[in-house]
Parts: sequence; structure tokens; C-alpha cells
Amino acid sequence: MPEFRQNKATKEWVVISPGRGKRPSDFVKDAVKREPLPLFKADCPFCPGNEKQTPEPVYVLPKVGDWKIRAVPNKFAALQPDLATTRTNVGSFLSAKGFGVAEVVIETPEHNKTIASMELNQVAAVLMAYRERQREISRNEKINLVTIFRNHGPRAGTSLEHPHSQIIATPIVPPHVRYPIEQAVLHYDKYGTCVYCDTIDEERRQKERLILETDNFLAFCPWAARSPFECRIYPRRHMASYISINGEEIDELAGVLRSLLLKISNCLDNPDYNYVLRSSPIGDEDTRYLHWYIVVIPKITTPAGFEIGSGIYINTVAPEDSARFLRETKTDT
Ligand SMILES: [Zn+2]
Ligand SMILES: [Zn+2]
Repeated sequence: MPEFRQNKATKEWVVISPGRGKRPSDFVKDAVKREPLPLFKADCPFCPGNEKQTPEPVYVLPKVGDWKIRAVPNKFAALQPDLATTRTNVGSFLSAKGFGVAEVVIETPEHNKTIASMELNQVAAVLMAYRERQREISRNEKINLVTIFRNHGPRAGTSLEHPHSQIIATPIVPPHVRYPIEQAVLHYDKYGTCVYCDTIDEERRQKERLILETDNFLAFCPWAARSPFECRIYPRRHMASYISINGEEIDELAGVLRSLLLKISNCLDNPDYNYVLRSSPIGDEDTRYLHWYIVVIPKITTPAGFEIGSGIYINTVAPEDSARFLRETKTDT
């Protein structure tokens, strides 16, 4: 039986309408078979030896010797860092110059690695680079929002194979981000609690959508998941912004993120995916009503006319089933 479900935080409705698939392989019939990648590719701009093909790094570790991780300004950025943020009018329409900061985090020198197959300390280095760059970019007074994300595979929107994440910082907080914040404020005013902390308590109580849990993190498929196998990682400690994460938590998060992505890869035959790290806007880092988190979206379905028209997503795999499949998927292969 189909069912409407509401996202507690955003108030968005989705339809959970399970199809007839019974096993994960039923949902990934059109999985793209990929050739294994080489360790090094001479014409890859992110491979060692080709550093001249990228702008000067804004972050590199270690500082001397062969690098293990580097962040560089995005050469093909949609937004540019040297522009004003003033709004102007074109007739009665509003405009502003395309100011923003866009960077690429080159996660490893090895062309054929993914987060799921990296050493744990390398995943932690990636997560540390996110925090350091977010902290640095947040000091720019013209920036109001930092979005960190990773596109894995062509269906997720990446054309470069070499493992990398992206950071895009904007002067604008768009309605897509602002509306859930307003809902979180209303929740806080009504109940005196963070809606995301409340969600953690409720998911832990109901248990059936949990995937894995550590002292400081919870990975689960949300009650109102928009698409099959959508997963989230929430820190259990209340933190509005990722800039507040500490070193021990980063090490723990590295294990949770890697395990989750490995489960997704093993369960769904290495699907393309996006993940996004959502934090409070700049200036709201200490609020009691916002909570940073990571959302992972395997690209198994494409939004169609109804989704585009109504904003109501139809999810053909119940999140309870997605979570059970992922829970049962082994990560020791
Ligand atoms: Zn490469
Ligand atoms: Zn919270």
C-alpha cells in the first residue's frame, strides 16, 4: 500500500510506494559496468606529476615531500572569487555578479581509489581538509553558505575520474536551504529542542531504519527518504556546523562514512552517488536549532515529471528495506 510520509525537519512530503523488487539487485538492473581504473593516468590533471595543470593549492599535506591530499581553486568554477555581491536590477528582475569560492579537494594521489577503498587515515585526512577549508572560507565576510559535496560517477554529474570532492561557497542562502532552517526555528520555538536531535532519538527508538551506530554518529535511512537507499549520517552531539567537529570525531566519522559507502557499493554494485555535507549558514554556527549532517544519495532513479512538477518524490523502496539491505551487507570483502 502506498503511503505519504512527512520529513519531520523540512515538512516535505514523499510517497513511499514499494515496487515488486525483493532484492537489491532488482533495483539496479541498469547498473553501469565499469572497467577497473589504473593507479596512475598520465593525462589526468589530478595525478601526481601534473600539479602544474591545477592552480596553486590552498591546502596541501604533508607540506613537504610527496603530497597525500591537496585542495586547489576550481579552474572551471561556475562562480568567481573577485566580484562584488551587490544586487542590481535588470528592469524589475534581480541580479548579482557571480561571486563565490569554488575549490576541489583532491583526496588522494591514487587515481583508482574511492572513499570506500581508501585507508582509514586517508578518509580522515579528507574529512579534516573539509573542516579546515570550511573554517578558512567562512572567514570571508562576503560568504554566507559553504556546501561540500562529492559526485561519484557520470550519473552523479562528474566527468573526472580521479577521486575528488568539491566545495562551493556562496554569498546567497537559497530558499532550498533557508526554508528548512525556518522550519527548524519553528520547531525549536514550539518544543524547545533541535528537530535533528529529536530525529536521532526517534530513529534510535524505532530502530528499523538504522544502518550503523557508533558513540558519536548514527547512519540511517530517513523515515521520509526521497529515493531508494538515501542515507544520512548525523553526529549525535548537537553541532550546527561541521566547523565544530573535533579530531577524535573526525576519526570516528571516517570509519562510519567509509563503512556506509562500502556497504552501498557492495549492496548496489558500485552505483554512482552524490553526497552532501550540510552545515548551518555562516554566523549560525552556534545555534541550538540547526544540526549538520551528511546525506548520501545513490543515483538509482531519476526525478520525473511528477517530482519536478509537485516536489513530491516517489520512493519505490521503503527506507526500512533499504536500511535492512545495507545493514546486512558485509564490509569485510
Ligand atoms: Zn588521476
Ligand atoms: Zn541537534
